[in-house]
Amino acid sequence: MTHAATNWAGNVTFRADRVERPSSLDELRALVARSAKVRVLGSGHSFNRIADSPGALVSLDGLPPDVEIDSASATVRVAAAVRYGDLGRRLHDKGFALPNLASLPHISVAGSVATGTHGSGDANGGLATSVSAVEMVTAGGDLVTLSRDGDPGRFPGAVVALGALGAVVGLTLDLLPAFEVRQRVYEGLPAEALDDHFGDLVSAAYSVSLFTDWRSSRINQVWVKERAGEAGEAPADLFGALPADGPRHPVPGMGADHCTAQMGVPGPWFERLPHFRPDFTPSSGEELQAEYMVPRSRAVEAFHALDGIRDLIAPVLQISEIRTVAADDLWLSPSQGRDTVAFHFTWIKDTDAVLPVLGAIEERLAPFDARPHWGKLFTLPPAVLRSRYERLGDFRKLARHYDPDGVFTNEYVERYVLDA
Ligand SMILES: Cc1cc2nc3c(=O)[nH]c(=O)nc-3n(C[C@H](O)[C@H](O)[C@H](O)COP(=O)(O)OP(=O)(O)OC[C@H]3O[C@@H](n4cnc5c(N)ncnc54)[C@H](O)[C@@H]3O)c2cc1C
Repeated sequence: MTHAATNWAGNVTFRADRVERPSSLDELRALVARSAKVRVLGSGHSFNRIADSPGALVSLDGLPPDVEIDSASATVRVAAAVRYGDLGRRLHDKGFALPNLASLPHISVAGSVATGTHGSGDANGGLATSVSAVEMVTAGGDLVTLSRDGDPGRFPGAVVALGALGAVVGLTLDLLPAFEVRQRVYEGLPAEALDDHFGDLVSAAYSVSLFTDWRSSRINQVWVKERAGEAGEAPADLFGALPADGPRHPVPGMGADHCTAQMGVPGPWFERLPHFRPDFTPSSGEELQAEYMVPRSRAVEAFHALDGIRDLIAPVLQISEIRTVAADDLWLSPSQGRDTVAFHFTWIKDTDAVLPVLGAIEERLAPFDARPHWGKLFTLPPAVLRSRYERLGDFRKLARHYDPDGVFTNEYVERYVLDA
């Protein structure tokens, strides 16, 4: 047992009085069974109090880091605390891949799935869409498995579950054959190009991200990740953006040594799909983050709505990323029921300066029913947030079923989901 600490960004000091580290499944089951309040802490990369607990936090990184690949069914069963960077290497060595990754490989698989974490790419769902089975220890200490095929009525509620149903100990993920990716950065995209060519841009390759600091009428960078083999000749001009003459970091002024290889050099999927390398600090390291998910069909309107308050955004911003995510059917997924465009913001590390700007963004994005990232900062009133998830009532019933006494709830879950 250790005293509870802070999240990765350092803006949240957990109120939980301790972090327990069981070293076996039986120990975890006994711990949960005797706890009045407990929640699992993943790798601590969320920017709000989602992971906190009024009782104990439990870290599962003392459990065996199992990665069991079943080649015949092209699936892997992975222990909850394994990080995507480690998983990626192990899968690639055996000839397999995941369809997509987030911008960083440092995050735990279960913690990422729990918040609906996503990468980019018109045809790529969020990371949770690879999950075909969830194994969790529920209140009372029972081990419960829910699968996509075996439990179609409950499974879609149990994947992006915000840690509210139980302690996930293992996930089964669908795999693809391993593939290679080439990454290229283009610079100086005229913002007007979005008006006529947003769809062409974001569908130009397997994964496309636009980075803007909202300081001018140009999109600073376009990161284009193509699957090698499917890629044709790289265009010399991408709707007015030109190829960078060397590797780039998305945050202006930062060196590219923390970033994955660019300049079209092919490499394994897990070393190109994230923007940041596992052995370096991702992003800027000194930051806060927020992200809002809007229907992709309204991407250009939403861009202009935000552009109208760029004088508010730019002074407290390091960089913004715009990317697309395919629709899914997971009840609490920010992409549930709609192809999505995500507007992400990496802010300076000054909560007091950033929160009012979030309020302004939320007002601007209200007509688009923007759903905030569960693991990042937002100020949306709980009732408004809840109204943007049509299956939220079903999720509440599921939470009452698996956790009738609220052992796995915390203030965040009560406020934004359970309406307690
Ligand atoms: C630098 C940086 C870059 C980022 N880039 C992206 C990005 O590209 N795309 C994106 O979508 N997000 C991104 N994020 C956000 C990040 O992916 C999410 O916050 C994610 O949830 C972090 O995973 P974690 O393991 O650290 O979870 P934590 O923050 O530790 O926990 C998140 C939630 O998961 C629950 N949880 C964790 N493990 C378990 C378990 N075993 N069983 C039950 N519940 C569990 C916790 O209780 C909590 O509710 C980024 C964050 C940072 C710091």
